[in-house]
Amino acid sequence: MIDMGEFELIDVYFNALPNPRHDVILGIGDDAACLEVPPGMQLLVSTDTLVAGVHFLAHWDPFDIAYKAVMVNVSDIAAMAGDPCWLSLSLTLPEASESFLARFSQGIRAVIEPFGMTLIGGDTTRGPLSITITIHGLIPSTQALRRATAKVGDRIYVTGELGAAALAVHYLDHQNLPTDDKAVLMDKLIHPRARIDFVKALRQYATAGIDLSDGLSSDLSHICEASGVGACLWLEKIPVHPLVQNYKGDQAIDFALNGGDDYELCVTVPLRHEDAWLAQLASADLKAYPIGVIEAQPGLRGILNSGIRRDLPKGGYRHF
Ligand code: ADP
Ligand code: MG
Repeated sequence: MIDMGEFELIDVYFNALPNPRHDVILGIGDDAACLEVPPGMQLLVSTDTLVAGVHFLAHWDPFDIAYKAVMVNVSDIAAMAGDPCWLSLSLTLPEASESFLARFSQGIRAVIEPFGMTLIGGDTTRGPLSITITIHGLIPSTQALRRATAKVGDRIYVTGELGAAALAVHYLDHQNLPTDDKAVLMDKLIHPRARIDFVKALRQYATAGIDLSDGLSSDLSHICEASGVGACLWLEKIPVHPLVQNYKGDQAIDFALNGGDDYELCVTVPLRHEDAWLAQLASADLKAYPIGVIEAQPGLRGILNSGIRRDLPKGGYRHF
């Protein structure tokens, strides 16, 4: 197992990752990283911790654990409409297993390479498996997409189908799903995609945004509370993943509303920008789904095509 020391291990598995960025003055290997922030840009910083048994299962392929850990951090930068740039990694491992680290660093590479990001440092300690990643992004000054700036009358959009990751968690212990369906659901849970592809349109047209980590009702409530507004959702227009529809029927909407881990974005767009927003998305081959409207009255409501309205509890995953 451990025939490599800590430093050799960092060198082989982390320092060997690609560094395409010219703004990394000092990366892995010094006492601190040194980064160049271009004039006119602001720095976005976000940290997420993933713990075995809570966010992933210890028997998962280390590639997948790393992939998800990095991707959920990239998602936070997407939710701010930023460009993801630099990553630092605090890794706590029960043992310095080379097979683990080889797969783990491949999982990091699979996310950072397409986004042109660089791993700039971190910390390695021994203990129960846990991964803390800090991501740094750049955004043109004052253009960061906040939670607190949704306005009454804005349309609410989501960037993709919801509920599949939650259904995967729901079925984790069920072995009797058709293999193909189980593979699709697990892929949704393990390999989310951060919606960096929406960033350009968001900077131009959105008033507020958040990524869907805990679930639509919970995460949209964060926007509403921060903005001092409420929301009404058109329940039949919420894009439910087709497998969730198939397996859960009438309950499918609950998975879409309250299930976590989808990592799509929920954003608000003023009506006067709606045509331009949709045109820009279409030109980039992107699709967003209008699901409701921001209202003055606090809280979340759902409305059916029949006109029936009901208050929605803010569900979603909660750690405490
Ligand atoms: P220090 O003792 O000064 O904190 P370390 O021995 O922890 O330094 O780390 C040495 C170098 O390796 C530092 O540049 C640090 O950022 C980097 N590093 C340590 N662990 C990791 C890791 N898991 N991933 C990436 N870089 C790491
Ligand atoms: Mg250290």
